Amino acid sequence: MTWRLARKASTSVSWEEVMSQAWLLAVDLGSIAMVGVGLLFVVVWAVDRQRSSALFFAGAIAAYVAATLALSVPIDVALASTIHGVLFHLSMVLLADGLRRRIDDRLPPAATIGFVVVMAVVVWYFAYISPLMVARIITQNLGTALLLSAVMRGLWRRPLKTGLDRVALLAAAGLAVSTGVDVVVALFSTVPREITTPAQLDSYLASNLEMCLIVASAVVLPACMVALLGVTVVDVVHELRFDRDRDELTGVFNRRGFSRRAEVELGCTERCGVVLADLDFFKSVNDELGHAGGDKVLVAFARLLADNLEDGRIVGRIGGEEFAVLLPHMGIDGATEWAEAVRSRQAAQDVGFDDRVITVTASFGVAAGDSRSQLAALLDSADRALYVAKLGGRNRIAVTT
Ligand code: GH3
Ligand code: MG
Ligand code: MG
Repeated sequence: MTWRLARKASTSVSWEEVMSQAWLLAVDLGSIAMVGVGLLFVVVWAVDRQRSSALFFAGAIAAYVAATLALSVPIDVALASTIHGVLFHLSMVLLADGLRRRIDDRLPPAATIGFVVVMAVVVWYFAYISPLMVARIITQNLGTALLLSAVMRGLWRRPLKTGLDRVALLAAAGLAVSTGVDVVVALFSTVPREITTPAQLDSYLASNLEMCLIVASAVVLPACMVALLGVTVVDVVHELRFDRDRDELTGVFNRRGFSRRAEVELGCTERCGVVLADLDFFKSVNDELGHAGGDKVLVAFARLLADNLEDGRIVGRIGGEEFAVLLPHMGIDGATEWAEAVRSRQAAQDVGFDDRVITVTASFGVAAGDSRSQLAALLDSADRALYVAKLGGRNRIAVTT
């Protein structure tokens, strides 16, 4: 925008000027898009206050837009460049921290502050002590490329869990590559030391360096922020879905979550086992240990059922002390064997609470079906078997007939 103000003093009306005005319009449109995306990040944060990454991304955009505006204010070029440098690096640090916070991590505060201060001092040096525009451009872009590369290394090291992690990584990589390209182009550019005359401005606007910087600020950065907005919104939706389908106490699926997943699994597996498990005399456990002690027993039992979930097992708490388990690719024998293993481990498991140690057994009802079976019918069969196990004396397994 500064360039545009200065541009008015120029008298030539060449094709290059029209093109450069078009590029500058692209920068303005990019900034407007960024403001819109920034506001949406604030809305996401207002909906989910726990999601600090959204606030950091919004802060990154605010600092970036302020940095752009600093170049438009009619003040001394050195001062404008220094303010721009500080705000730009602040913006990149907030962006980097937002990327880390998204995965429940964060940048070390001392390193963050140190980075901004060092970069600001370098920019200040090349603005006041040894004025050199290209050095300021290299400093800002090299600093950003290194910062984002460090963040990307951290993201890459941890296992990428979902497509969303990959999109966030790609967004950071796009920006790192773009700023890296700017550094290389700046190193070989022949732009003026500083822009003080319309002729120098013409030369700068026609340079490859200016084109690369415009692509970075008008295309790459807005695209990166839009991608991160998409990732953040989908993160929120996933978490809401996760909460909706999970049992808060034990962490396994609740009745709704279990039914939804079990129905899908049942439709695409050739055979599967269904186990209903119910803790024995749980009312007296509560009487003995209190409700909190009973909760601890429930958590320990759920952990046992959900131990080593690699076989695709689906575990849900479908009632107070009643759990359902769907075992894909298992027939009645496999499901019975699995239930027996859990039963014996539970019977051997002591639970301590308030200086008291007790053992709580469980009873199991086992049924099996195939892709044509209805989940409700399988659960009914397993429930009837469970009733038989209870009648038979508890701490045992009964198989549907
Ligand atoms: P049975 O061997 O026949 O299954 O007897 P039981 O005592 O286990 O069964 P009953 O259905 O009579 O009692 C279940 C108890 O589970 C009653 C209720 O207070 C308790 N309960 C239900 N939900 C929770 C919970 O979230 N936490 C705790 N601590 N107790 C719960
Ligand atoms: Mg019970
Ligand atoms: Mg019960």
